[in-house]
Amino acid sequence: MTELDYYEILEVSTNAQKSEIKKAYRKMAMKYHPDKNPDDNEAEEKFKAVNEAYQVLSDEEKRSIYDRYGKQGLEGHGQGGGFSGGFDDLSSVFEEMFGSAFGGGGSRRQRKTYNYNLDIAVEVRLEFNEAIFGCNKEIDYTYKTACKPCKGTGAKDGKLSTCKTCAGQGQVHTRQGFMTFAQTCPTCQGTGQAPSASCKSCGGTGYDEVKDSFKVDIPEGVNDGMRIRVSNKGNIAPDGSRGDLYLQVSVKEDSHFVRNDDDIYLEAPIFFTQVALGDKIKVPGLRGELELEIPAGAKDKQQFKFRGEGVKSVQGYGQGDLIVQIKIEYPKALTSEQKELLEKLQESFGVESKPHESSFENMFDKVKNWFS
Ligand SMILES: [Zn+2]
Ligand SMILES: [Zn+2]
Repeated sequence: MTELDYYEILEVSTNAQKSEIKKAYRKMAMKYHPDKNPDDNEAEEKFKAVNEAYQVLSDEEKRSIYDRYGKQGLEGHGQGGGFSGGFDDLSSVFEEMFGSAFGGGGSRRQRKTYNYNLDIAVEVRLEFNEAIFGCNKEIDYTYKTACKPCKGTGAKDGKLSTCKTCAGQGQVHTRQGFMTFAQTCPTCQGTGQAPSASCKSCGGTGYDEVKDSFKVDIPEGVNDGMRIRVSNKGNIAPDGSRGDLYLQVSVKEDSHFVRNDDDIYLEAPIFFTQVALGDKIKVPGLRGELELEIPAGAKDKQQFKFRGEGVKSVQGYGQGDLIVQIKIEYPKALTSEQKELLEKLQESFGVESKPHESSFENMFDKVKNWFS
């Protein structure tokens, strides 16, 4: 029996990115979905193969095992070719996909009769240090719960009838030039059913809004743009099942520290004499004072690294560094006394104080000769 490679099944290259794999999976799954291919055994087999391939390639750990040892390597990992792990992700992809694409005709899919999503996203603003060290935050937010009189449908007495916009098809067709495109019906969102009269209690939305607040532990090391999932704090469906709340993290900047992933950068202004002589200075670290030794002759923008003084990785492995970059500063004005001292100092260096002279020694004659 020959079997296609998972990459071939999804028609992606072996170095495809996660997003590419997901996209390819959606395309294939749509194409071979049993709802679209009733009583077609070949399509069903392909559909299974596509799902199997996606379960492996969408999981970084499984994918790397598969890349190294092939399918056999996965057998000890609860993946003997069947459907075991990773169903969470699968069902979310499905919901996304069939929620819009298959609207009208799903016999295997339970029809969603309420018109709001169960997952919610809420922004949480953190101070620079709160993100680095973690904190306990109070989250104030609003969630939706199904309107009781209409059971979440938004229809008077909970009664839905065939959607008039799409005649129950769940899709509407639009023309652009000679092409006709099918689109999810905007009235019924693809379900084919719509209220003929609005529920008075909720005004047709299907839900009531509830204000709530709770405290949540923000883990050490989170960064701007990350999402934290708080399970079972989302919207509530008519059957009582509840979605998740996603906290969208946004972190304020600091006036001195600059964060890049788990590394922290700090600029230290240094007077030119400190650089000439070498010096030891105190710099602020994330967890207290640090001592920076500046060697004589250090250069402008030179960086000094304090290993492990950065941010602790939110994934739990490793710790970033603190990098201090020096910025050499020169006096803005000189008193006559300072000027005298500097001139004396310059003289004491003799030839060394005029490096341009030795460097350009032969250049003047050379350039002159070019034109003679
Ligand atoms: Zn419709
Ligand atoms: Zn209602």
